[in-house]
This record gives sequence, C-alpha cells and structure tokens, in this order.
Amino acid sequence: MRYSQLLLPTTKETPSEAEVVSHQLLVRGGFIRKLTSGMYTYLPLGFLALQKVIGIVREEMNRAGAQEILMPMVQPGDLWQESGRWKKYGPELLRFRDRHDRDYCLGPTHEEVVTDIARRELQSYRQLPINLYQIQTKFRDEIRPRFGLMRGREFVMKDAYSFDVDDAGAGRSYEIMHQAYTRIFERCGLEFRAVEADSGTIGGSFSHEFMVLAETGEDTLVICEACPYAANVEKAAIAPSAEAVDEGARATVCKVATPGLKQVDKVAEFLKVDPSKVIKTMIYLADGQPVAALVRGDREVQSVKLKNLLGANEVESLNEEQVWQQTRLPVGYMGPLGLEIKVVADQEVMRMVDAVAGANEKGFHCTGVNPGRDFEPDAVGDLRQIAADDRCPVCGGSLRLKEGIEVGHIFKLGTNYSEAMEATFQDSDGQEKPFIMGCYGIGVSRVVAAAIEQNHDAKGIIFPVPLAPFQVIVLNLGPKDETFCQAAETLYNGLKALGLDVLYDDRDERPGSKFNDADLLGIPYRLTVGKTYEKEGKVELRARRTGATELLAPEQAVDHIAGLIRQALV
Ligand code: ATP
Ligand code: MG
Repeated sequence: MRYSQLLLPTTKETPSEAEVVSHQLLVRGGFIRKLTSGMYTYLPLGFLALQKVIGIVREEMNRAGAQEILMPMVQPGDLWQESGRWKKYGPELLRFRDRHDRDYCLGPTHEEVVTDIARRELQSYRQLPINLYQIQTKFRDEIRPRFGLMRGREFVMKDAYSFDVDDAGAGRSYEIMHQAYTRIFERCGLEFRAVEADSGTIGGSFSHEFMVLAETGEDTLVICEACPYAANVEKAAIAPSAEAVDEGARATVCKVATPGLKQVDKVAEFLKVDPSKVIKTMIYLADGQPVAALVRGDREVQSVKLKNLLGANEVESLNEEQVWQQTRLPVGYMGPLGLEIKVVADQEVMRMVDAVAGANEKGFHCTGVNPGRDFEPDAVGDLRQIAADDRCPVCGGSLRLKEGIEVGHIFKLGTNYSEAMEATFQDSDGQEKPFIMGCYGIGVSRVVAAAIEQNHDAKGIIFPVPLAPFQVIVLNLGPKDETFCQAAETLYNGLKALGLDVLYDDRDERPGSKFNDADLLGIPYRLTVGKTYEKEGKVELRARRTGATELLAPEQAVDHIAGLIRQALV
C-alpha cells in the first residue's frame, strides 16, 4: 500500500478523554475514530490490525475442530424470556421493540440463539460433540464505556459454544478450547496468564479468563509464587481461619466521640488500636436495595463476592451523598449496631473481639463491639478481596498481585441453558437428555488494544509482528529523486511479491516526520532509502522494538527481511 493514497490520518492531538495509552495511540496513529460514546470506526490501519487478530483466532478455532457460523445480531426477547435472562440481565442489554411491538435486544452474547439452533438441528448423540463459533459485532450498553477499544459498547467478539453428551465430554471440549486459546494468545505474541474466574451473568460453574499482563489492566490477578494457582481477585477464595478465637472476657459497648475521624486509619490511631480491630461498614445497592457489607478495617470488600453471596444480579457501590439518600447514615461513622438494613459480614469479622465500629451517629464510634453478641448479620461469608500478604488457597505459598486485561473467557455452562430452553438430544440409550454446554469468548477488538498496552514506548506502538497491520515500512527519503524512487519501488515490489504486508512511504514529507510516523504506527521493520543509499548504495533496516539498525545491499534486503518476519510468525 502506498502511504500517499492511504486514509491514515495521524495526528499530534490526543483526545482529552483518552486515559490509556492504547486509546491515545490508536487515535493518534489514525487507526480508529469515535462515532459516539463507546462506538468506533476502524479506519484502514485499525481494520488491518483487527483482521490480523481475526485471522489467528479463526485458524486456531478451525484447527480445534470448531465450525464457523454467523448468527443475527438482533435477537428476539422471547428467547431471553425462555432462558430467564430477560429479567436477569441488567441495563447492559439494549432492548427495543419492532413495528409489531415485539421485544428485541442487541446481542451482547449468543447463548440463547445458539441453544435455539441446537434444539432444532441436533437430535442425536451421533451429532455430538459439536462446537459452533462466530466472529461478530456485539453490543453491551456498558455503564462506563472507556479506554477506546478496551471497553466499548459495540465491539468485536469471537464467541463459541460447545454441546456434549455428558460431563466428561464437556470437560474435553473445555480443555480443547483452553489449549486453542493458549495457542491463539501465544501466536499473537502476547504475555498472558490463564486464571480461575467468576462466571458473571453468563452463568455456569467453572471458568477461566485469559489475561494480558499490563499495568493498565482493569482486573487484578493473584498468582502463586509456589504452585500453578492463578485467579482473578473477584474469584480468589480465602479459606476460613483455623486459629482459635480468644475466649477471654469481653468489654461492653461504649460510645466514644471521634469528631472528624471518618477513615479507618484515623479512628484506629485516635483510639490506639490496630486498623484490623476496626469494623469497616460499606453500603452497596444490591438490585436496588441498600445492603451493609462488613469487613475488617485493613481489608477491602470484593463486590463480586458480595454479589454472589447475596445472589444479586447487580451490586453498585454508593458515594457519600447516595448513602445518605438511601439510608440516612453518615459515611465514616457507620456500623452494624442497630442497623435496619440487610447486613452481611465477612467471615473474619465474626472472629473479631472488642472491635471498634461506627455508632451510626456523626462524630461517634463504639468500642467493645463483639460480633454475634452485639449484632447478628443476615449472612456471613467470604466477602473480602485477597491481598498480597495472604497465603495461596491451594498450597499456602506466597502470592503476587498483577494487573491484567481480560481478552478471553471460557465457561463450563453445564445444563443452565439447555434445561431452561428444553434443548435435548436422544442419547445412545434412547433417553432424551439436555445438552452439556460450554461457551468461549475472545474480545477480538480488545486484543488490539491490549497488545498496544503491553507493547509501546514514548514514540508510539511496537506491534508484535503477528498483529502488525503492516510488517515493513519502506521509507523513501528522496521522493523527488529518480534513483531513490526506483530503488524504493523495487524494494516495495520485491517485499510484496514475497507476500509481506508492506507500507511504502512515498510521501513528499520531511524525513523527520516520516520517521516519527513509522515509530508511531509501530510497524516492526523500517527500511530506509536515504543518506546511506546516496553515499554507499546501502539501505538501512531498523527494528522498531530494539532500535537495532543494519545496513544492507538493496538486493539482499528483501530476502533478509522476509526471513526475519517468517521467524517471528512461527
Ligand atoms: P469484562 O469483565 O471486561 O466486562 P465480561 O466478563 O463481561 O468482560 P465476557 O462476557 O466474558 O466479558 O465476554 C468475552 C470477552 O469479550 C471478554 O473476555 C472481553 O475480552 C470481551 N469484552 C467484554 N466486554 C467488552 C467490551 N465492553 N469491550 C470490548 N471487549 C469486551
Ligand atoms: Mg468475563
């Protein structure tokens, strides 16, 4: 492709809303343009990068024996009523009516549609196992679309669904997808981890997320230093403590003035106790109802665990003003004593002795609070987020926390959907049985952003070769000079003839701005016809990632580069 003819509007301006580097660079590099909140057009370069991801995903899904289909993006509400998710799925599901006043939604995922296909088209165990997948645009009306392609409202997903006759088969299908995903992200050239994960609104019993390691990741992973255990902190379980609780005498509850002391640390310091002696009370809205969640003062509430413990569809944290509106409670001075809303406590809280808690009165706390004696929560469970100083729940080893970007998620669904939607097949014993299902997603467009989050420097993107929209850029620094043009054209044509993806910068621009653009776009190899060509007939090859340069005779350059790229694609 000739740069002079390409719609590649690079810009120096960074949109003020672009908080993360992938969003900034995708806009600056002319890859994407925003249409409206959470919705983007892929310009040619963005679309090429997306196609690279799609190509790898498709090859590996096919290799794993999955079959590609394409389902409608608009889905009838009736199917969602059948699965029970019409009610359960929150406002992320964009619902609307057609001219006949029938309910529809834009597909955020396709369990219902694919289960409908299965119950119509698959009658016998002989047709199983089967795995059907598609690569398609999804819509989720995200509450806070942000970070460009990372969290859009409209985005491209690969979603696959497996159907098996029994649990053992479903386990094999899951394992095949686990391996296919590992190959996909390896081939993309990304550093990633597969971690145990919460199943969310998709449902099911067991799941793994594939996380690209990057500081800007919205997820936190906990990784054991000693064993293969790795989990999303949303999921990472904390075993109940085995230590005995001190059975000695207990203090009585005593109200003390703590004016202006709203934070745990401040109260603890003032009362000369450790923060672990303070009960932290946080108010959440669970399916519209206020709930108080209690954790030790040195711990954090994990809202997904809270949601699971409550069996709620949605849990929202509230700011000070919202807490006041919902409960008339003073943030900073809240506690479990005499609370009239639902109270759930972390298991650790129930082991606290003579604790400090807010008095539910501005400027006051209580000391001598003993859970079980002074208040009884409505529910007790594992509510808190695992921390770096916790021990591995599997082997007791030490843990490390890391940020990650979720690029893939695989689930064992069991019979959740097949039972609700009466999707059955006839087994070898003549019995009608529900399909055992699994589902498997990859955020194809998010992979492009995640690759950039993991691979960039101050000058721009550093694409892993397999995802680069172009593998080589040929810079012609003498676009008005006949011999320069001839040499550059020959190189461009030679590289193209070998099937490489080549961008030819034939523009009449200053060398400086050509170099800058090449760096910004992150093209792995840059081949320059410039000064050294004039002086000694050599062209300069530079690797974007390492900055290493070498001078080559033009007639060697093409094969040499083709070799480097082939190596990077294995
Ligand atoms: P998240 O926790 O990031 O909201 P999710 O758990 O809702 O994601 P899944 O339902 O597992 O996502 O969807 C499969 C994949 O689709 C995810 O692993 C992710 O890579 C991608 N994905 C999900 N939501 C978005 C989004 N809003 N924008 C881009 N990609 C997304
Ligand atoms: Mg997920």
